[in-house]
Amino acid sequence: MTTIENNLGQIHARIAAACASASRPVTSVQLLAVSKTFGADTVREAVLAGQRSFGENYIQEAVEKIAAVRAMQLAGGEALQWHCIGPIQSNKTRLVAENFDWAQTVDRLKIAERLSAQRPLGMARLNVCIQVNVDGGATKSGVMAEQALELAQAMVKLPNLQLRGIMSIPDDAPDFEAQCAVHKKAKAVFESIKASGLAGLEHFDTLSMGMTGDLDAAVAAGSTMVRVGSGIFGRRTYGTPTP
Ligand SMILES: *Cc1c(COP(=O)(O)O)cnc(C)c1O
Repeated sequence: MTTIENNLGQIHARIAAACASASRPVTSVQLLAVSKTFGADTVREAVLAGQRSFGENYIQEAVEKIAAVRAMQLAGGEALQWHCIGPIQSNKTRLVAENFDWAQTVDRLKIAERLSAQRPLGMARLNVCIQVNVDGGATKSGVMAEQALELAQAMVKLPNLQLRGIMSIPDDAPDFEAQCAVHKKAKAVFESIKASGLAGLEHFDTLSMGMTGDLDAAVAAGSTMVRVGSGIFGRRTYGTPTP
């Protein structure tokens, strides 16, 4: 068994235990493997171990990796899903629209409009999440909770996007209780949009929160997608991607 296969097994076991404690079905939480800084060969190893969805932060790095993984023509590779989970500047929206299946970090209407306009004909709608800033720092990415519904109302009108849910990246919290408290804020935003009666929310089913350090608390608070990097691939070294 490879290290990645072993690590994936351990993360799945943590998700299962967290689901059991919360009386949730284990199928209610998806695992997104965050492969930033790791190369196409590492992604291949994870695909061979059964992983199908991958999250990337740096768009240029991701575009090259996605092409390299496609060229490998892996069994199951046609079902891979690529999620953009890093900040999206206006000048990168075209690359995101052309290469990804999901963009989780939308926090401005202008970015949403560009993604919709630049989604190529013939591709499925781009799945998008609204990034919400649940712990308040004014300089952080993400809309404040109070503005999320207004952004959702505008985003559901964009023809080439599918609004899928909410994502958040809270700062590290000291313990399980504190992690749960902050994740519950994102859960509340998710539920309030869901209950809003807005048209176009038929596929609004994703609450993306929880990483290696706090996925257990995130699942307890209602996460439907945990984003795990180091817990699967090991410690990241920034700079040249590891092969
Ligand atoms: C890097 C990253 C992750 C994964 O973090 P780990 O602590 O390595 O699991 C998850 N989400 C986002 C947005 C990230 O940038």
